[in-house]
Amino acid sequence: MCETAVNVEAIFNENVFTMGKMKERLPRKVYAEVKNVIDHGGELSPAAADVVAKAMKDWAVELGATHYTHWFQPLTGITAEKHDSFVTNPDAEGHMLMEFSGKELIKGEPDASSFPSGGLRATFEARGYTAWDCTSPAFVKKDATGAILCIPTAFCSYKGEALDKKTPLLRSMEALSEQALRIVRLFGNTEAARVTASVGPEQEYFLVDRDLYLQRKDLIYAGRTLFGAPAPKGQEMDDHYFGVIKERVGSYMKDLNEELWKLGISAKTQHNEVAPAQHELAPIFNTANIAVDHNQLVMETMKKVATRHGLACLLHEKPFAGVNGSGKHDNWSICTDDGVNMLDPGDTPNQNIQFLLVLACVIKAVDTHADLLRQSASNVGNDHRLGANEAPPAIISMFLGEQLEDVVKQLIETGEAASCKEGERLYTGVSTLPDLQKDATDRNRTSPFAFTGNKFEFRMVGSSDSIASPNTTLNAIVAEAFCEAADVLEKADNFDVAVHDLIKEYLTEHQRIIFNGNGYAEEWVAEAERRGLPNIRSMVDAVQSITTEKAVKLYEKFHIFTKAELESRAEVLYETYAKAINIEALTMIDMAGKQLIPSVISYTTELANSVSAVRDACPEADVSAQTELLLETSSLLAESKKALTALKSVTAEAAAMEEGEGQARAYHDRVMPAMSALRAPLDKLEMIVDKEFWPIPSYGDLTFEV
Ligand code: ADP
Ligand code: MG
Repeated sequence: MCETAVNVEAIFNENVFTMGKMKERLPRKVYAEVKNVIDHGGELSPAAADVVAKAMKDWAVELGATHYTHWFQPLTGITAEKHDSFVTNPDAEGHMLMEFSGKELIKGEPDASSFPSGGLRATFEARGYTAWDCTSPAFVKKDATGAILCIPTAFCSYKGEALDKKTPLLRSMEALSEQALRIVRLFGNTEAARVTASVGPEQEYFLVDRDLYLQRKDLIYAGRTLFGAPAPKGQEMDDHYFGVIKERVGSYMKDLNEELWKLGISAKTQHNEVAPAQHELAPIFNTANIAVDHNQLVMETMKKVATRHGLACLLHEKPFAGVNGSGKHDNWSICTDDGVNMLDPGDTPNQNIQFLLVLACVIKAVDTHADLLRQSASNVGNDHRLGANEAPPAIISMFLGEQLEDVVKQLIETGEAASCKEGERLYTGVSTLPDLQKDATDRNRTSPFAFTGNKFEFRMVGSSDSIASPNTTLNAIVAEAFCEAADVLEKADNFDVAVHDLIKEYLTEHQRIIFNGNGYAEEWVAEAERRGLPNIRSMVDAVQSITTEKAVKLYEKFHIFTKAELESRAEVLYETYAKAINIEALTMIDMAGKQLIPSVISYTTELANSVSAVRDACPEADVSAQTELLLETSSLLAESKKALTALKSVTAEAAAMEEGEGQARAYHDRVMPAMSALRAPLDKLEMIVDKEFWPIPSYGDLTFEV
């Protein structure tokens, strides 16, 4: 069943107020003013803001919009919106005009005192403001609520402290641009006026049947299964990865793509992933802040479209134990506005001194702030992936590939890189097939931070997480390294000698972060420890890295976070962790107490009745099978009941603690193990108990019945 294909060129950006639409609809002078603010920063005049607001409203109303919202990204990690209609007071004759002013476009004041602020906003001074980020285009979201004009905004407190994920990201982009310009100037570029971080996130997700999903409280409340024995088949056959896409999933993907294209999101690649029921979508890269906004829209649209198709989209990092979880590869590069990708080595990287300096700076940045990068990719769900023998390990290291590794080695050893390994021809051995030019760099799928041709791919990020923090961190740490390099080089008497020495110094000092081997291997953990690389095992352990003296110095220097903002974020992270695990524990208590244990009791009763009935009917019959089952089931049942009681008590104790690090640690160190202790006997019971009695869909039902 293939409906008529859509005209992608026609629908692309249909629901976005693009520069093109502004150009068409705005007086030339106003358009020029807007463009100038977007390109060079600054503020729009109130008069121009009014004109833009009216044009934006008229366009949105043509698409059926009745409301607008300042769309923002609080520290919950998702987006927030409060709708206001364009309706105004009717005149004496009862006529009403839909209106939207420049003031309403530029500034909002949601009473948003319930968002996490980590103590930055006491409720008596709870004013929060949203401010238009004109560098990310406004768009119209259409769903059951109707059509809503969404204005991407930053969210700040009355005193200007950032309460969201966008503000620090924008600040970090400014810092990176400023410092990167100093670097390109050193190499004679006088033209570039801005350097932009580009980001392309690859998004993994699972799809399950919605009716089955609704039968599992763990999926509903926690987004992941808290119980579940493995299905007889998992991912061992590698037959799902890149496999033929099932009809139902294909029809979902088609709908999803169309929705995304209308929002100006260039959905490009789609395929089945490794685990059963797991898939991936990748857009074409974009400016960092737009990529962050788009990724939020991708996640939201994935969920919405799934509901329409009778499916549920799971974005959790580990929905199912025993098969791969989901991540988000954050592809990152830096480009000047005159078109130079600063991470492009060219054909002969050994001769590209600017590239080598940039590379040396990134290596230095990642080594110096490995703890910050690790933290930026941690969330509650990602604890099940990082360091748990899948996805990248929890230890940050960098993969450069054969060609660059060789160049770096030469530079460290001799101070010169005289030669450069070239990509060879790949002979297919079949006369009718073309021979291919091989890349000089192979891929290493186990590296958390890999150079992939002209960009770095940060592979640690969790699938449900906002990509704002990872990119804020990357921008900040690289801005610092650029700044330190420029400080030295701008003063140098002999630039050529100085840059040469600096590259050698950075590479020599920070070479420990480079690792081209298997990041999943046990030996790597020991080797990394020998090299002195941090191995931060959990989200809770990672939090403190954002408030160290080193981090505060970095972020304050580039005006990305103040110390108070960092401390507030640490508080929010601890609270988030405690709350999430508390929900998981309570969900397990609920499911075990009200669904699973009662079902096992019914099953044991049935078994017992069967033993008696058979004995009554035929005293000499062998009832050892039933009796053994009864014994085994009863013993696991007793173990479950005991574990349930224990989980109830540790959860109550943790919940009663004061919020903060101590409480988060209690959830991690005590509640999590108690959850595992409850899960273990119940997963065994699932394998024994008659399916008729088991009250929730199994892993097999969930992952193979889409
Ligand atoms: P894979 O790693 O699975 O082979 P691709 O090579 O298709 O994936 O690229 C993955 C992502 O990297 C895409 O979103 C792509 O747009 C993005 N990407 C490509 N070039 C850049 C760049 N210069 N900066 C940032 N992202 C980029
Ligand atoms: Mg990739």
